[in-house]
Amino acid sequence: MLFRQKPLKSFQRTLGHHKVLTSNEDLLTYSYDVSANRGMPEIVVLAETVDDVLMALNFAIDEGYFVTPRGAGTGMSGGSVPLKKGIVLCTERMNHILEFNADEKRMLVEPGVITAQIQEEAAKHGLFYPPDPSSYKVSCIGGNVAENAGGLRCVKYGTTKHYVLGLEFITSRAEICCTGTLNGDPDSADLTSLLVGSEGTLGIITKIALRLIDAPQSSGTIRIAFPSLETVGSSVSEIMAAGIVPSVCELMDKAVLKAISEYTGITLPEETEALLLVEVDGIPQEVQENLKVVEELCHNRQALEILSTTDADEAEKLWTLRRNISPSLARLAKGKINEDVSVPRSQLTNLLNEVAKIAKRYSLTIPCFGHAGDGNIHVNVMFDPDDTLEKTRASQAVEEVFKEVLKLNGTISGEHGIGIVKRDYMRLQMSPAELDTMRKIKRAFDPDALFNPGKMIPEG
Ligand SMILES: Cc1cc2nc3c(=O)[nH]c(=O)nc-3n(C[C@H](O)[C@H](O)[C@H](O)COP(=O)(O)OP(=O)(O)OC[C@H]3O[C@@H](n4cnc5c(N)ncnc54)[C@H](O)[C@@H]3O)c2cc1C
Repeated sequence: MLFRQKPLKSFQRTLGHHKVLTSNEDLLTYSYDVSANRGMPEIVVLAETVDDVLMALNFAIDEGYFVTPRGAGTGMSGGSVPLKKGIVLCTERMNHILEFNADEKRMLVEPGVITAQIQEEAAKHGLFYPPDPSSYKVSCIGGNVAENAGGLRCVKYGTTKHYVLGLEFITSRAEICCTGTLNGDPDSADLTSLLVGSEGTLGIITKIALRLIDAPQSSGTIRIAFPSLETVGSSVSEIMAAGIVPSVCELMDKAVLKAISEYTGITLPEETEALLLVEVDGIPQEVQENLKVVEELCHNRQALEILSTTDADEAEKLWTLRRNISPSLARLAKGKINEDVSVPRSQLTNLLNEVAKIAKRYSLTIPCFGHAGDGNIHVNVMFDPDDTLEKTRASQAVEEVFKEVLKLNGTISGEHGIGIVKRDYMRLQMSPAELDTMRKIKRAFDPDALFNPGKMIPEG
């Protein structure tokens, strides 16, 4: 370590002490994300420009440090946690909107721009940036791109990848590369889709060209209480089969509703087993018609209560239950493993029934909620981290959930990424040939394994 002190001091002087942190307190701040994983970096670089990133990478290459990219650190899979020490390279301060072209419905941004700021800027011009991870007020667009973040609206509008037109990224040899519309050559192979969702393992994203769309004219919200998981599952399928694509279709199961009721005091019909929150958007007439169809379909499925509105303030009241999930669940137990599994919509009820059986078998509370419209369910395994036996049971229950999900033709990560937490489960989902292809892509981009070591791909 000592032999690295001199080059480090010189690097600090060149880049500026405020951008190169080495105190224990600072390093601790960048040692975790929202998952349970921890890893102390040796150095934190707070890059403000592309030149800062280049300088940091040249320093890392020369001095043999690993580099873990980081945005706001809101990731749930350990992606920004430096597993093998080295440098945490944070792009949070690269936070400028560089260009906004309302006519072409495009925006060019740096990776540290907060997702909500992109949505607000688009809205000022009557435009819409739909991806909306629930962390949108704090997460950075660079982290969203690196995780291909989803959200409530992806049932209708897709995920982050559907809005990325091109990228600028810095390679593991400290070179600038551009993809897609930033590349300037429409005939060249587009590497954008390899970078989106690469979880900081292939390069440091430094610019993002985003596509915007026209903002919907109006929206309507409807909250429906159901007497069983079966009726809620078939209602979701019937809504879609009727040709309605809701902009939001969120499900909450009984365990989630109980926790929210205890926290907020909001009461629902006594026999409620599950709740659906549906939003439809479009031109006002279409919204009215679609609300009516949803109401009728759910009524025919023995809905216990249907509340519907096109008024924004009223809608906010219907959203109260959904918005209070996190603080309500936090009261149930000190530990929570939040898995974001995804199954075909037709398998929703089967998944929820299987999770209920697993909860019983392992004597655990496992509340479920999530984006029912695209089958992406957050399975929350609650446990006491100080109880070793319960902690073990929680891990075993998670593995069982993954196995059930794969049996139902689903995927173990709908939106939170693989990172550390799901890396070793990739073998359950992907064939040796598929994993080997991923390793080859990693080697092609990063032959010396500089970026984010130990993430995403299990060792061969
Ligand atoms: C309350 C809460 C709700 C959430 N809801 C959702 C949700 O609805 N949908 C969803 O998809 N996620 C959700 N998340 C997870 C998380 O917010 C997203 O994964 C988000 O995209 C992470 O952004 P970040 O800036 O915090 O990235 P970080 O956590 O800092 O990093 C995430 C990954 O991106 C990489 N990375 C970051 N910046 C760069 C860069 N410039 N270049 C290359 N790689 C980079 C990191 O190495 C890491 O692998 C939620 C999290 C919380 C805490």
